[in-house]
Amino acid sequence: MNSPKRLQLYETPEIAVTFDPEVCIHAGACVRGLPTVFDTHRKRWIRPEQASPEEVAAQVERCPSGALQYRLKNAQNDS
Ligand code: SF4
Repeated sequence: MNSPKRLQLYETPEIAVTFDPEVCIHAGACVRGLPTVFDTHRKRWIRPEQASPEEVAAQVERCPSGALQYRLKNAQNDS
């Protein structure tokens, strides 16, 4: 009732993707750009494991509204 739509979290061991439904403007860039990962027909509509973390990150950066955000988990693998 009085609960706003919640932030959604989708993650793999490599990357965490968050989606804020209140911010999304439904521009559809995510679904068009990487349809294997972003598919609104599924209940769990973001599946970051379906592409490389780099591909997912690049697509998240193209979200025009900022509804999608990501965090790479293994950023400390410097040689
Ligand atoms: S790209 Fe961003 S604003 Fe567009 S539909 Fe996807 S989450 Fe929403």
